[in-house]
Amino acid sequence: MELQINNLSKTYPNGVKALDDISLTIPTGMYGLLGPNGAGKSTLMRTIATLQEPDSGSIALGDINVLTQKHELRNVLGYLPQEFGVYQKVSALNLLNHMAILKGITNKSERKGLVEALLERVNLQDHRKKAVSGYSGGMRQRFGIAQALIGNPQLIIVDEPTAGLDPGERNRFYNLLSEIGENVIVILSTHIVEDVRELCSNMAIINAGQLLYNGTPIAATTALEGKIWEKATSKAELEILSQSHTVVSTKLVSGKPLIHVYSETDPGSGFQQIPANLEDVFFTQILANQPA
Ligand code: ADP
Ligand code: MG
Repeated sequence: MELQINNLSKTYPNGVKALDDISLTIPTGMYGLLGPNGAGKSTLMRTIATLQEPDSGSIALGDINVLTQKHELRNVLGYLPQEFGVYQKVSALNLLNHMAILKGITNKSERKGLVEALLERVNLQDHRKKAVSGYSGGMRQRFGIAQALIGNPQLIIVDEPTAGLDPGERNRFYNLLSEIGENVIVILSTHIVEDVRELCSNMAIINAGQLLYNGTPIAATTALEGKIWEKATSKAELEILSQSHTVVSTKLVSGKPLIHVYSETDPGSGFQQIPANLEDVFFTQILANQPA
């Protein structure tokens, strides 16, 4: 099954063009939607999840016309929104049970088994009787995945799930996501390049509502082969270099800027050619598509 998005556009009443003629084909497996804050990721995800309407364009999941067959889509959808509501003092067990009822799982013993299995799967069984409102960030996100998995969804949408997680929580969350399986479509949005590198077999980069790249992470870095150059520099020299070079990224290493520049030929000045990474792809795409 594939998710096919064609010429999707959305302008909010305040004039912000959040989606600008987006066309994408998303296969099964983990798909990374990478873009800075305000790129349009949540707008795209809410639109796919049938929670808001585009101005124009179409979306199909296999045979389902997403924009007209909302009910059919919701039956096969698992969705973890970016802002996952704050709960009152309801235990994970009771909350999941309640959500399973809402998803139409009316048989009590079936539901009990399902809820237990989900809690086990996201490793919250020892905390199942604790209130979700008292969970850590990582536990909340794992709970969020559990609720998204109710009813064996074919399409799972998780919007910035790793924001605010510490490195340990992020790792546990990565492991959980990558276990979800290769036979469903999982769309993960993030502004963190590392999330995509570690998890996703396919990806898109969006910025200001526009699609800048769509393909595999490997093809994206291969396209930059031989064009990324690195130099450890000083703050003063960086100012001069940025006048004459396309500085793709700047990272402080022991307080000194380590910079990457994009150049088709040897930029001189002591730069070393290095293999391009996904961060280079992300920033070169955004630089290349910035309005003048
Ligand atoms: P992302 O999830 O990539 O951060 P969003 O889809 O949330 O991006 O937002 C894309 C753009 O649309 C931003 O400029 C944002 O301010 C704007 N936007 C999002 N939601 C609304 C809304 N309900 N009304 C008006 N503007 C919005
Ligand atoms: Mg968002």
